[in-house]
Amino acid sequence: MDEPIINLHSDAYFMGEALRQAARAYEADEVPVGAVVVRAGRIIARAFNQVELLCDATAHAEMLALTQAEEATGNWRLTDCTLYVTKEPCPMCAGALVHTRVQRVVFGASDPKGGAAGSAMNLLQFPTLNHRCEITAGVREVECRSLLVSFFSERRAEKLEARDDPRNGARPNVRNGADPTLSAES
Ligand SMILES: [Zn+2]
Repeated sequence: MDEPIINLHSDAYFMGEALRQAARAYEADEVPVGAVVVRAGRIIARAFNQVELLCDATAHAEMLALTQAEEATGNWRLTDCTLYVTKEPCPMCAGALVHTRVQRVVFGASDPKGGAAGSAMNLLQFPTLNHRCEITAGVREVECRSLLVSFFSERRAEKLEARDDPRNGARPNVRNGADPTLSAES
């Protein structure tokens, strides 16, 4: 009776699966965003952001998860699916979510600057497009956001360390091997 009850069909549970994907992105030095697609209470696709790994700016977690879900269902229409993602979808992913007719989008951390699910703009419910997604925002938001915050603060710390490292700072203006003392004379 002391065991916590885990509702295997709750938004919090599926967001937990998206968070596991985001953690995999973090380990791979990618911006930590993860996504899963759920249909009839089952996960049919899981993906994490792989922009650096695939050298592809379109390899966001949502895009990869949608392609997987289309393959799993044999249908590009995902009308009975819910996509869970740790960060509010960007305009590209929101466009893909509308094109694939995803029924519902659940996200964790909102993105005031670039979020296309209601923060900066709302492409998921754009009046003149032929499909609108239901939106549930802020599920496990603190965990989703803290992954992103710690990732970017680590990155900033690494950059500062590199800048302050005397091994990197010895010849600060050298480009292409040119000696700055020589180029100053020419
Ligand atoms: Zn995106």
